[in-house]
Amino acid sequence: MQVHFPVRSKGLRRKTTGAVRAVDGVDLDVYRGETLGLVGESGCGKSTLGNALLRLVEPTGGTVEFDGTDVTGLSQRDLRALRRRAVMVFQDPYASLDPRMTVGQTVAEPLQVHGLHRGAAARAARVAELLDLVGLDPAVASRYPHEFSGGQRQRVGIARALAGEPDFVVCDEAIASLDVSVQAQVLNLLRSLQRTLGLTLLFVSHDLAAVRHLSDRIAVMYLGRVVEVASAADLAADPQHPYTQALLSAVPVPSPARERRRERIVLTGDVPSAARVPSGCRFRTRCPQAFDPCATVDPALQPVGAAGAHVAACHLHGLVPAAD
Ligand code: SF4
Ligand code: MG
Repeated sequence: MQVHFPVRSKGLRRKTTGAVRAVDGVDLDVYRGETLGLVGESGCGKSTLGNALLRLVEPTGGTVEFDGTDVTGLSQRDLRALRRRAVMVFQDPYASLDPRMTVGQTVAEPLQVHGLHRGAAARAARVAELLDLVGLDPAVASRYPHEFSGGQRQRVGIARALAGEPDFVVCDEAIASLDVSVQAQVLNLLRSLQRTLGLTLLFVSHDLAAVRHLSDRIAVMYLGRVVEVASAADLAADPQHPYTQALLSAVPVPSPARERRRERIVLTGDVPSAARVPSGCRFRTRCPQAFDPCATVDPALQPVGAAGAHVAACHLHGLVPAAD
């Protein structure tokens, strides 16, 4: 799948001068009932990918299949149905809640949009159930967002997202703007909701520690591309891509003895602009292990573990050029 944004030159006669390759040839499966973590530095395209999956931004190429149906060609009507089954929990609970609506109205809105639990009494009962589900007292339905803490607002955002009983939930940096002390509570809530409701969760975050805590599998993204996918356990124990190794080496470990033994890999240089992706391996400008073919050959994802469930895009595992 691709999401390329056109870049236009300034001036009266605007013409397209290039493309920002925000998401550039990503082939990724999310399995029903799993939590897939999508991790990478800010600007690597992970939010764009999450948004494209829900068609909140339009992919410019490739397909996005949801339950076997390519959603890139959906009619408005089918898109509405998709919007009920696949939802987004946004990063900023301050910006994503309408300050003029009560919490009850906010949570009830998707019910009205999708024609669920019709009638005031049925709707109020469903809103109470949803607030209870996310650990809020149903009595708060009549209050306004400004009366709540960040963590409580994010709970309201989650209740709203779950109103239509979705199957697939994308959480885009859902804990990033919360106090550290509250982040664990919201993470635990997401984990328990995922299990009890059987949700398929895509957890998008720059925070590898949080991703590890929540995910069954993890996909690592760099500059618009997925560079490694593995189970959370395999990725942590045996990372195969130099970028993943660097990301993991920066995650604090609880034990001071282990901390001393650990080697921190410091990446030099900035992430290149997505409008100027390096030739060959896009990580080569920062890779401590880059060698000759990296400058010219774009590496494909290839199996790096015994089971085939662990894949990485790096020539250190054999020279496999990416298609196209
Ligand atoms: Fe580094 Fe080369 Fe592997 Fe890219 S292909 S991650 S530059 S070693
Ligand atoms: Mg983002």
